Amino acid sequence: MPRDPLIDRSQAARLAFFEQERDLFHDLVTHGQSPEALLIACSDSRIVGAGLLGTLPGEVFVVRTVGAVVPPYGIGQRSVGAALEFALDKLRVRHVIVCGHTDCGAIEALDATVDMQKTPNLALWLENLRPAKTSVDAHQTFADPYARQLAILQQSVLLQMRNLETYPVVQYALKNQTVSLHGWVYSLESGRLSYYDSDAGRFVVEDAQDRQP
Ligand SMILES: [Zn+2]
Repeated sequence: MPRDPLIDRSQAARLAFFEQERDLFHDLVTHGQSPEALLIACSDSRIVGAGLLGTLPGEVFVVRTVGAVVPPYGIGQRSVGAALEFALDKLRVRHVIVCGHTDCGAIEALDATVDMQKTPNLALWLENLRPAKTSVDAHQTFADPYARQLAILQQSVLLQMRNLETYPVVQYALKNQTVSLHGWVYSLESGRLSYYDSDAGRFVVEDAQDRQP
């Protein structure tokens, strides 16, 4: 059987990382994982969880979905719900982060026609994002297309955060004040994060002074 080039390509970096973190991996296998946060991010290949958060193995439980969508509870799409229940009920994460990103193909697809015959799952999945677009287009006008896309993206993150609150396991954790919900937007153009400031009622760009050179 021919060698798998994908395995070959990853081997050096993977084993070097394992050697570097051998003790950590040993500890995580012996004692299990105890991550602090659940990250719900887009499946986009340009988003790398560890790069986004600066974390080590064992620190963040991750769900990746197209468009960082969290479907509302009880509509038959159980993958995100299963991850939420495992993360909150079993792992007791204290933070749930929904992280959208600029230049997101899922957001851009809302302005296009997705072929229901060829890609029915994608077409139906993107409907989870559509209320964000509808809301922005109904209430705001933009001279700059990028500003409109950013507004839809931000509304989408807020929509997914509201959807989180439809899950009983999230409601229970919020009621007991054992979890905080976070909404982030990651800029592929700058590497900067914006976060939703609930007091200000808007997204705020991270403090530039906090950024490492
Ligand atoms: Zn995306």
